[in-house]
Amino acid sequence: MSRIAYVNGIFMPQDHAMVKMEDRGYQFGDGAYEVIYFKDLHLVDSIPHIERLYKSLSAIKIQLDISTQAMILKIKELIRQNKYTEGFVYLQVTRGISPRDHVYPEGLKPVLTMSVRKITYQHHSGVDVFTEPDLRWQRNDVKSIALLGNVLAKNAAAQQKGFEAWLVDKDGYITEASAANAWIVDKNKTVITTPISNQILCGITRQRLLKIMNDNGIKYQERKFTETETREASEAFLTSSTKAVVPVCKINGKKIGTGEPGPIVKQLQNLYLKFVDTASN
Ligand code: PLP
Repeated sequence: MSRIAYVNGIFMPQDHAMVKMEDRGYQFGDGAYEVIYFKDLHLVDSIPHIERLYKSLSAIKIQLDISTQAMILKIKELIRQNKYTEGFVYLQVTRGISPRDHVYPEGLKPVLTMSVRKITYQHHSGVDVFTEPDLRWQRNDVKSIALLGNVLAKNAAAQQKGFEAWLVDKDGYITEASAANAWIVDKNKTVITTPISNQILCGITRQRLLKIMNDNGIKYQERKFTETETREASEAFLTSSTKAVVPVCKINGKKIGTGEPGPIVKQLQNLYLKFVDTASN
């Protein structure tokens, strides 16, 4: 059976779902997106995800007239029609359809599409990452559908059999991964992650994990760190909605700590998965 997709108000078999040639998302990457994990029909952190979508849309001046609650109902209906119990929903909003021109006409009607994928969190016993220059634009806080910099970096890492690319800015600091936030744990057991700015996406998993750390008395700092600090760290990991908490055991072929997932990342993995199991919105 084909998956069911949602295209501008209509649920239909994904094999038949189409977007127009002159959709500005297709021609310019002119739009924003979100990815929300669900388990046992519960959406994980749906409100912050939808709020971030509206924030991204507002930053690029796209106005979508659908309330958060109406959006949640549509997402739940899509999940119900697909009969999946665990996976993620991909939501995309583009500026609309008009003859190709960099200047967009006023009053375009945004195009909202949604699809679902069935996945379960993989247990990663530790992954390798490779650094790549961060060649992206200067508004990485916007979850833009234009992801060429991320795509090229992740493929460069994949060609070396890496799981992810950790992106390095012009001053030598790690900003984030191509599709996740980046973290290290120093020798004093302090968890460190890059502070929020327009250089990175403010990950919903990141924010949730900071709260979990607060609640569990785990020390953390939001500050910049380099590749050398990562190599000298005792642990490292990455976070995203589709991957949860993934231990990183090697960077550019060099072991981090013992080269095995450490106690703090294991604790954070467990705490986050426990949160997912009890999330109910
Ligand atoms: N940073 C980038 C560039 C991403 O693409 C993602 C997720 O796709 C993240 C961070 C993590 O964000 P979240 O935890 O909201 O999934």
